[in-house]
Amino acid sequence: MSDFYVAPGSPVDGSDYLVTATALDGKVRALAVRSTNLVKEALRIHKTSPVATAALGRFLTGALFLADTLKSDGDSMTLNIRSDGPLQGMTAVADSHGNVRGYCLEPVVETTYHRPGKLNVGAAVGNGKLTVVKDFGLKEPYVGQVELVSGEIAEDFTYYLAASEQTPSIVSLGVGIDENGVTCAGGFMVQLLPGSDEETISYLEKRVGGGFPEVTFLLSEGLTPEKILDMFLGDEHICFLEGRKVAYACNCSRERMERNLMAIGKKDLTELSEDPNGIDLECHFCDQKYHFTQEQVKGLLSE
Ligand SMILES: [Zn+2]
Repeated sequence: MSDFYVAPGSPVDGSDYLVTATALDGKVRALAVRSTNLVKEALRIHKTSPVATAALGRFLTGALFLADTLKSDGDSMTLNIRSDGPLQGMTAVADSHGNVRGYCLEPVVETTYHRPGKLNVGAAVGNGKLTVVKDFGLKEPYVGQVELVSGEIAEDFTYYLAASEQTPSIVSLGVGIDENGVTCAGGFMVQLLPGSDEETISYLEKRVGGGFPEVTFLLSEGLTPEKILDMFLGDEHICFLEGRKVAYACNCSRERMERNLMAIGKKDLTELSEDPNGIDLECHFCDQKYHFTQEQVKGLLSE
């Protein structure tokens, strides 16, 4: 493989990473990610059933694409789906460093299929809303919300980007699963930049409609994020800008849990402080457990 197909900074040690590029005469922005390890980590933490693993894996992967627009330290993005399917919803949080974490409200649901081997994620998610909150530190957060289109996640991201951010995009997300767990995960996103012409749009429409292979197939064949973009765009002048690692990472801490406890209000905290066994808290994102003795809860109450 020539260096042409390795973006500056892409790890070669098998880690998950995200690649950014421009192509088609600078008329599109393109991203691709391999997220196999981080979806495996999500499965390990949450013990999700197969269709929930696929849903959450796609959601975490898509969150990485949206969060790529975050620039500053401390910026973060929270994505929520609340829906009426058995999964009930999902939450994902991503930052500007390629870290993502998330969970399903109901991690174990019955797995159904569109056809043999093709998990029916839409049925597990159901109807509902996707909300995106971009938090830029001190500035007002940006909030966008759309109805889910299909619950298949990639289509929902596409609709969100068009309706809420006025950015026409192609989004493909996939999680491969077999009886041993996650075999691969990743996706790609191509966005029209201002100044795109009809020619570019119809070219991309042909690529999408032309039976382009599923991203899980390409990943399982060992294609890197760079190769997937190259293959989808078919542009020998594609310009790879950057490759950087992405990972499942939680930033919870005892201090953060203390702040959460204090935020529930004096009345509720007083009630909790009456339990002689203290209280046990668990982080939704990583299952880390935090125990507070009765004395410690009372201590927080007096602060
Ligand atoms: Zn945590």
